[in-house]
Parts: sequence; C-alpha cells; structure tokens
Amino acid sequence: MFDLENLSAQEKKLLDNMINGVCVIDYAGHVIFWNESAAEITGFSPEESIGRACPSDIIAGEIISEPLCKSRCPFLMPQADEKPATIDIRLRHKNGYDVPARIRCVPIIGVSGMTAGVLEVFERSYGDLSISSQLEDMRKKAYIDIVTRIPNRRFAEESISESLDMLRQNGRGFSVLMGDIDFFKRVNDTYGHDAGDAVLAAVADTLRSGVRLLDIVSRWGGEEFLVILKDVHKKAALRRAEALRKAVAERITKDDGNDIAVTISFGGTVARKDDTIESLTERADECLYKSKEGGRNRVTVL
Ligand code: GH3
Ligand code: MG
Ligand code: MG
Repeated sequence: MFDLENLSAQEKKLLDNMINGVCVIDYAGHVIFWNESAAEITGFSPEESIGRACPSDIIAGEIISEPLCKSRCPFLMPQADEKPATIDIRLRHKNGYDVPARIRCVPIIGVSGMTAGVLEVFERSYGDLSISSQLEDMRKKAYIDIVTRIPNRRFAEESISESLDMLRQNGRGFSVLMGDIDFFKRVNDTYGHDAGDAVLAAVADTLRSGVRLLDIVSRWGGEEFLVILKDVHKKAALRRAEALRKAVAERITKDDGNDIAVTISFGGTVARKDDTIESLTERADECLYKSKEGGRNRVTVL
C-alpha cells in the first residue's frame, strides 16, 4: 500500500513546495496529503482536508465532478487501464466560487498490483488553457510570424546563433539563403494588401515544402525570407536555392479570382567559424543584391 509516512522529509518538502496543488488519496478513499498550493487554490487548509473522504465537499462534489467521479475515477478504472488522466474541472473554493482547473490523476499501484491510492496534481486554468499550456502558446506565438505561419526573424537569429556555436564546437557547417520577392510592391499596388499577404503565405509555403525537415525557413522581414540549410558546400546550397527559386516562380496564388505569380531572388553563403549573425546575413544580402542587379529571379551563392 502507498504509505506517505515513508516519504522522506525532503520528498514531502518537495511536494509541499510544488507550484501545483497536490493531493493524495489512500486506498480507502481518504485524503492523506494536501499541499500548500492545494490550500491556496481551494481555500481549504491541509488540516481541513486531510482525513476527509473522497468525494467530499472539499475534494469532490464540486472539485472533481462529472467526468472524473462518474467515469474516470482511477479507483473504478480497470487495472489494465491505469494511465494518468488529465481532466478539466471546476473546483469549488471554500468561499463558494468556482475555480477552473486542470487535474492530472495518477494511480498508485500497491504491492498487490491493485490501485492503492491516487496522486492528484492540479493547477488553475484560464479559459481552455492551463498556465503551462498558455505559456507554451505565448512562447510559440513569439517565434511565429502571423501572416505566413513560419518562424520569424527572432527565431531565425537564435537558430543562426546556435548553428554558429555548433560550427565552432564540432565543425558542423551550414549555409544561409536570403530571399527577396521581386517587385512585390506591384502585387500590393495591383491586387491590394490582402492579396499581397496571400502571396507571402504562398511563398512561405513553397519554400518550406522545398527544404528538408531540419532546414529552417523564416520570414526575415517584409517580403524577405531567410533559409538556414544544413548544406556545408556552396554547390549544394546553390542547387537548393535554384530549386526554391524555380518552385516560387511556378507557384500561382489564387486570390479573389486573380492568378498571381511572383518571382524571388536569392543570395546565399556558407557559414564560417568566425562569422557573427551580422557578418553572415550581410554576406548573403550582398549576394542577393547581385541577383537583383543581375536582373532578378536569379540566385547568387558566394
Ligand atoms: P525588389 O524587386 O527590388 O525587391 O522590389 P520590391 O517591390 O519587392 O521592393 P520594395 O522594397 O520596393 O517593396 C517591398 C514591398 O513589400 C513594400 C511593402 O508594402 C510590402 N510589404 C512588406 N511587408 C508586407 C506585408 O506584410 N504584407 C504585404 N501585403 N505587403 C508587405
Ligand atoms: Mg525587400
Ligand atoms: Mg522585394
């Protein structure tokens, strides 16, 4: 049987200081552990909670209502099915109001192989999201460009910085391509800004489909894209840039009855050990400038 008495003082302290509410129910369905966060979230102190039966007005009734008690109660689930369940619930605070929360129930299997108790870990949630998934969502948004749904410049810069570290540490090389849509202003002027956005998204999609999983396509700014390739050699980078250029030229964006085609120019370069983000992207930019000068819809890799 699960015996909280056997936990070391250190382990208890750890549980007590967890940011999540932690509750342990023993085999008889009684609360035997209730940490400080559980008290803070629900308003019920450990003294008020420990010894109570589950479900009671403290931990259940309201706290763990419908789906958990009726069909997902870890005590009622077949032994073979003892997987932790994560469920959104409404806790009833001591002061009478509801607290939306997400709870994870982990069955504790005793020596007999039977469910000897349940560990319940819960946290407040906001809307549909728990705090941790909200943070994850914000983190993703901070790195994703909204118009094109690909990584943004910030992500690209951090990736280049990491890749340069790897290059210096273990010699793993890479190259970058700077791409800029040709005469993009005309697209906006002719078809409108929304059509321009649709073209940007289509170009992003074309570029992403044209590289390998480990390569990174990012939106560097306006109508500029930066591609980080795992290619070490100039020839390979040139070949890939050429394939991307061709794919963009062949892509048609359908918008409001119009078929819009654009071309893109690329400048590319292989990373050097003494490069910085700036020196590397500036070199790619100089090559891009050569492609523009040379007539656009072309690739320069040096
Ligand atoms: P070049 O071949 O020399 O690159 O010509 P260009 O017209 O592409 O370059 P220019 O820098 O003159 O114009 C870029 C245009 O891109 C101007 C700007 O309004 C447009 N642009 C930048 N960001 C966005 C965006 O998010 N959406 C749309 N629709 N347009 C954008
Ligand atoms: Mg530009
Ligand atoms: Mg342009």
